[in-house]
Amino acid sequence: MDIKKAIEIIQGNINAKKNDELQAIEIAVREMKKSIAMKPINNGNWVSKTCPTCGEGLSEHHGDGYYSDNICLESCPNCRQLLDWDD
Ligand SMILES: [Zn+2]
Repeated sequence: MDIKKAIEIIQGNINAKKNDELQAIEIAVREMKKSIAMKPINNGNWVSKTCPTCGEGLSEHHGDGYYSDNICLESCPNCRQLLDWDD
């Protein structure tokens, strides 16, 4: 079973559970989703690409207004979201 299917099943089992159980499921699903690689958000040529989950800046800044993709970065240093730099 892949992780997307597992998330579907877990979310499908939410039936008016207790508040803390719902919260636990939300946290589990949020963390599981981070293991599915996502593309960084392209905000334009003159600003950093950002993490699709937390908004952390991911590009390397060269100090002169230029940014380049930090493709060695496999996951967001802030929230651990896996990243997909492929075009
Ligand atoms: Zn992040």
